[in-house]
Amino acid sequence: MNEQLKSLIELQEIDSVILSIAEKIDALPKKLEKFKTPLKEATAAHQKAKTQLDTVSKNKKAKESELEEFQDKINKLKLRSKDVKTNKEYEAHLKEIEGFEKSKYKIEDDILTLMESLEAFTRELQNEDVKVKKADEEFKQQEKLLEDEKKTLYAEMETQKVKRKEFVVRIDGDLYEQYMNLLKKLEGPAVVRAKNEICLGCNTNIPPQLFNDIRKSENIFTCFYCKRFLYFIEPPSPPSDTRS
Ligand SMILES: [Zn+2]
Repeated sequence: MNEQLKSLIELQEIDSVILSIAEKIDALPKKLEKFKTPLKEATAAHQKAKTQLDTVSKNKKAKESELEEFQDKINKLKLRSKDVKTNKEYEAHLKEIEGFEKSKYKIEDDILTLMESLEAFTRELQNEDVKVKKADEEFKQQEKLLEDEKKTLYAEMETQKVKRKEFVVRIDGDLYEQYMNLLKKLEGPAVVRAKNEICLGCNTNIPPQLFNDIRKSENIFTCFYCKRFLYFIEPPSPPSDTRS
């Protein structure tokens, strides 16, 4: 095979490897984002539990001051007991106190219920706390793994780039420029196989004479349509040919 063509094929192989490493590096942030989801969910659940706890705590405080108000009213009424003159007045007075006390008991009941909720939500918040910590640890672990993966990929990339330089010096300047222009323009391989009279880069038919020339591999030819460099590899002999 033409030495220049051979070097071009090898260069394309290295560039394809470099490209796939670059794609892997580019995909890393998205991968990390995926691992963030459980942490985000745990944090949201934690926030929800905290809001619930805050609301109950606020309600309890409101009820407690309400209780104080009623106790105050009752105390004041009781102080006025000695000023009551008639029996009828006294009866009404007692009824009034009773009414306030009933309300007071109701508030006390409410406070008890709120205290139970408060306990339950406190436990829930503690559970959510544990979950957030666990999710955070797991996320950090994944982050570390991806960081290591990134380092490995960059190291691999460097190795390939060094290797690439060795191949580049073997290729004629003009040819290399042509290759690079193609690579940029196509955003894909610039050196492709020709198979069954078809360019595997753009799937266009190759005229039989040109295909024969490509097959000989003595010179460098390009696809007349996509301009990619074309090369031919002899397909492996089918088993039927080896019978003799
Ligand atoms: Zn083509």
